[in-house]
Formats: sequence, C-alpha cells, structure tokens
Amino acid sequence: MQKLIQLFLLLLSFSLSAQELPYRLEELTAPDFAKAVEKSSKTCIIPIGVLEKHGPHLPLGTDLYMAREYALRAAEQEYTVVFPWYYFSQINEARHQPGTISYSPELIWLMLQETLDELSRNGFEKIIIVNGHGGNNAFLNFFGMAQLSERRNYALYWFRPEDNREVNEKAEALTQDDKYDSHAGNSETSEMAAAQPTLVHIDRAGQQSGVDQNRMNKLKYVYTGIWWYASYPNHYGGDGSKANAEAGELLINETVSQLIEMIRLVKADTVVPELQKQFFEQTKNPLKTKQ
Ligand SMILES: [Zn+2]
Repeated sequence: MQKLIQLFLLLLSFSLSAQELPYRLEELTAPDFAKAVEKSSKTCIIPIGVLEKHGPHLPLGTDLYMAREYALRAAEQEYTVVFPWYYFSQINEARHQPGTISYSPELIWLMLQETLDELSRNGFEKIIIVNGHGGNNAFLNFFGMAQLSERRNYALYWFRPEDNREVNEKAEALTQDDKYDSHAGNSETSEMAAAQPTLVHIDRAGQQSGVDQNRMNKLKYVYTGIWWYASYPNHYGGDGSKANAEAGELLINETVSQLIEMIRLVKADTVVPELQKQFFEQTKNPLKTKQ
C-alpha cells in the first residue's frame, strides 16, 4: 500500500511538472528546453515590438507589451515556446521623438536573421513572428522573401491577423468612433488598458493631436519615406481618450483566437517545409528544372 501511494505521488509529480513546463524561453532550464522543443512540435514565437513614442499617454514599450500579450495568451492554450523581449525594429520615422531606440537597418536585419539561425540550431523547425509594430511591415515582407536566398532548415511564418468586423463594431460601440485610429488611437489604447492598465494615462490622451495632417496630399503616384511624418508628426494617429479596457479585451481575444488557430495550423503544416525542400534542391541547378 505504502509503495502504491509512493508510485501515485511520483506519477502525480511527473504529470504536474509536465504541465508546468514553462513556455517563456527565458524560464526554461536547459534539460527542460529540450522537452519544450518536442512539446511545442518544434515551433516557437518571436513576439516583436519596438521602443517608440505612443502618443502622449501610452508607454514606449506598447508594441512590446501587446505582441507578448498575444503570444503568451496563445501559448497558454496551445503550447509553443515564446522568445524574450525583442525590440530590434524598423523605427527611423520616430527618431525625432524622445525615447525612440532606432538601430541601423543592417543591425535589425542581422539581429533577426541570427536569432532565427540560433533558434533553428537549437531544434526549432517552425518559427512564428508575431509583430506588434506597424513600422515593421515593409521590413518583414522583404525579410520573409529573402529567406529564399539560401537553404534554411526552418520555415518562417508571419502571423497576419484579420479584422473581424463584428468584433470591431462591438469594440467601437463601447468607446467612440476614432476617425484616424491608427497609432496609439482608440484600439491600441483600449488593448493596453486591458493588458497593462497601470501604464495607461487616458487622461493625457487629448494633450496632443493625432489628426492626419495630410501634408503630401498634392503628390500623386508617390511613395517616399517621409510619408508617415507628413501625416502624423506627433507620432500619434487617432485619439485614445475614449478608449476602455472592455473594448480592448474584445480586440485582444479576437487576435489571440486567430493566433491559436494559426499555431495549430503551423504545427500540422507539411506543405511549406516540403515546398522549401523541393525549391532549394532545384535552385542548385535551374537548368534541370522541368520546362
Ligand atoms: Zn503601437
């Protein structure tokens, strides 16, 4: 009987420790890391943010907090390993604002590539990027295509959540229409009010203007890097003063449920790894590719 109880306790401690395997990479021991790679089906997430002004009322790390919020909530429900705070992002357009930490384009490229290479060397075969910073979008598109420049032992998947109109309307009904709702506006302020309430100063949201100044409106058929500054020189797009946590919770939940679905699809995916293998094989000798 004594032995049976001991065995039961041993099994219980095994199952508890298995359940408690952390999903934050920095919390794993080295032996547990190896278990986490297997438990995650060799998937991990890099939540990417930046340090930049978010209007007069949100913290510089807003995008870091939000990318991590989505990733951690999703990993809680669908196990995957979440990379630590990552703030090496494209943010040249806010260099005139206090607190912006802007690394060179070369460094942000190398930092991300070497992070992927190291995760791959440590056994992850599917790496998911969750990006919280809109200024990264062009960079991540190019970076993603550039993954085809040489053979990789991993596949890179960039999470691209879609707007759910029903959820957006419910969130808007709880706040107020924000015509320019883009950067530190209604939606982002609401999400931060839900995720990090002590860091949000809604009472200061009206102290600066987030109205689109449209200073390039005479130009047509043009892209130029100063476009964002032309519209939003305060690095504030919208008005966060009517934001609230309830609306933020709805928006976060929607993104997280899409991310959970995406992680499950990525874990099950055999198409991208197979096609990459085939593609890299063919790039060795294009003349042998069937015409
Ligand atoms: Zn932001």
